[in-house]
Amino acid sequence: MVKVYLDHSATTPMHEEVLKAMNPYFVDRFGNPSSIYLLGQEARQAVEHARSQVADLINCSAGEIIFTAGGTEADNHALIGYALANKDKGRHIIVSSIEHHAVLETAEFLAKQGFDLTLLPVDNQGTVHPDYLKEAMRPDTILVSIMHGNNEVGTIQPIQELAEIAHQGGAVFHTDAVQTVGKIPVDVKDLNVDMLSLSGHKIYGPKGIGSLYVRKGTRVASFMHGGGQERRRRAGTENVPGIVGLGCAAEIARQEMAQEAKRLQHLAEKLIKGILQSIPDTYLTGHPHNRIPGHVSVCFKYVEGESILLMLDHMGVMASSGSACTSGSLEPSHVLLAMGYPHEIAHGSLRLTLGKSNTEEQVDYVLEVLPPIIERLRAMSPLMK
Ligand SMILES: *Cc1c(COP(=O)(O)O)cnc(C)c1O
Repeated sequence: MVKVYLDHSATTPMHEEVLKAMNPYFVDRFGNPSSIYLLGQEARQAVEHARSQVADLINCSAGEIIFTAGGTEADNHALIGYALANKDKGRHIIVSSIEHHAVLETAEFLAKQGFDLTLLPVDNQGTVHPDYLKEAMRPDTILVSIMHGNNEVGTIQPIQELAEIAHQGGAVFHTDAVQTVGKIPVDVKDLNVDMLSLSGHKIYGPKGIGSLYVRKGTRVASFMHGGGQERRRRAGTENVPGIVGLGCAAEIARQEMAQEAKRLQHLAEKLIKGILQSIPDTYLTGHPHNRIPGHVSVCFKYVEGESILLMLDHMGVMASSGSACTSGSLEPSHVLLAMGYPHEIAHGSLRLTLGKSNTEEQVDYVLEVLPPIIERLRAMSPLMK
């Protein structure tokens, strides 16, 4: 059967080159980077090489990169680490209402520990306006965290302006850039951010590895306690193969990004146009232009996202829906609700995220199978009567 993978925002297959780069570090070069003999020092060199590959991708120095066990840990490290190290300066934290759960739940955890939390609203295209942040800033605000690109609706935020406002108010700025790193240029100096999270498996690298960029001079409490790895900021023997894989994925992304983004943008535009033209009562969610290349997110009135996913799966198409994220729950996506969509529309969300393997033929195939699926589901829907 046809297999069309359209869920690259959930995870990506690992690049062959990445696997090749990692392979020696499982058995032959298995050394502990902290050991003084050659086997250990080879592993150390590999880790440091990977650190500069990641640093090059986001334009920082290697010493500003901490390796973590993924995007979730990087987000936790940024928020908890900064809040704990700077609680004497103030206890107010600001995050947007459309953050990934890795930021949202961490911020809520901090609120339970006695920090004050403000959730910023977004407009109906999922943009956090700089004015919203201006209004929310207080003298005791220490940290602002707003994601670069949204994983559900693809909207890209005006990070430069937002970071500027945070800085003017004396706060530091963190951005979860898991969905934008490797897809669009992400330059921490340009964006003027103090901390930034990224993840390996969203950029054709391995799962369970990521990085937190921490601008030199920013005080962050160590996240794991134990050995002195990662300059005492993240204890635990380094995941050497994972780190090597992330470095390799970062290097490939840096080389291929510009061309691939253009290709994905073209495919996504074709998909969006085709869907909106052939299926009535359909809404494109997120910003119409300011969005992650290859990110298609729509809502179909009168249908359930999960039924669309099941029927697409029968046709060999793998996709996702905002409401399916928190598996088993019928709560629609917090992102779509924050954008002002009523429950009955938010329930019918579909996300198609394109990547390296996708072709024009696959887009044509989706445009062929999707309209009859929606039509069938609507014919069965009690909401249509
Ligand atoms: C996937 C994702 C994460 C979590 O990264 P993991 O490496 O899977 O822990 C965090 N933020 C965003 C925006 C994501 O898309």
